[in-house]
Amino acid sequence: MSGSVRVTVWNEFRHEKKDKEVKKVYPDGMHAVIAGHLSEQEGITVRTATLDEPEHGLTDEVLANTDVLTWWGHVAHDEVKDEIVDRIHRRVLEGMGLICLHSAHFSKIFKKLMGTNCSLRWREAGEKERIWNIEPGHPITKGIGDYFELPNVEMYGERFDIPTPDKLVLISWFEGGEVFRSGCCWERGHGRIFYFRPGHETFPIFYDATVLKVITNAVRWTAPRIIKAHDCPSVKPLEEIKSKGLYP
Ligand code: ZN
Repeated sequence: MSGSVRVTVWNEFRHEKKDKEVKKVYPDGMHAVIAGHLSEQEGITVRTATLDEPEHGLTDEVLANTDVLTWWGHVAHDEVKDEIVDRIHRRVLEGMGLICLHSAHFSKIFKKLMGTNCSLRWREAGEKERIWNIEPGHPITKGIGDYFELPNVEMYGERFDIPTPDKLVLISWFEGGEVFRSGCCWERGHGRIFYFRPGHETFPIFYDATVLKVITNAVRWTAPRIIKAHDCPSVKPLEEIKSKGLYP
């Protein structure tokens, strides 16, 4: 697909309004930081949408003009309306890219697309994380080196209850001993999905240059190659069929 990649950065945007600690880190919301970075990249145009907007900011019109949707949710997954989830699901199968960040592992849309519980182990201790690039030839890991580190994170540990990724590109090690599949790629229908682990609300993760680089790379990788509505047609044969079946 030609032209710029149209990204909608979606955020639940609740922690930042209610929690002083989070507000200090993300005064205008996480979406503002992610969108701000993406809007500076060549060939990417950005809009944002949040839970409390009408239709969660994801009208048919917005989704029809979205190539890649990024998703961050945590405390209000259940408040996302099923009809909107169905709308996003349909659009992913048609070819829209979806990037699920951190606690979006428990979002309705991610669980619906994965078909599993998407549960994991977690610990909020502010420990160190080392994220290993295990697919240096993959477009999503371009320019990030062999590994990168985040000094203070919430730990996510295995087992992460997901279907085996089509491609696993990042694995995390944590100071407390756990490991985690932190960069996972899938295709569903015509759409590409990327799950990326970093991003807890009380740590300034979305200001990290390497995290932002991975998200930018993922936007380019998940951008649609085709948008094709679902159909299931009855079709005429291309050649005359001479074989006779068992029945007249
Ligand atoms: Zn978290």
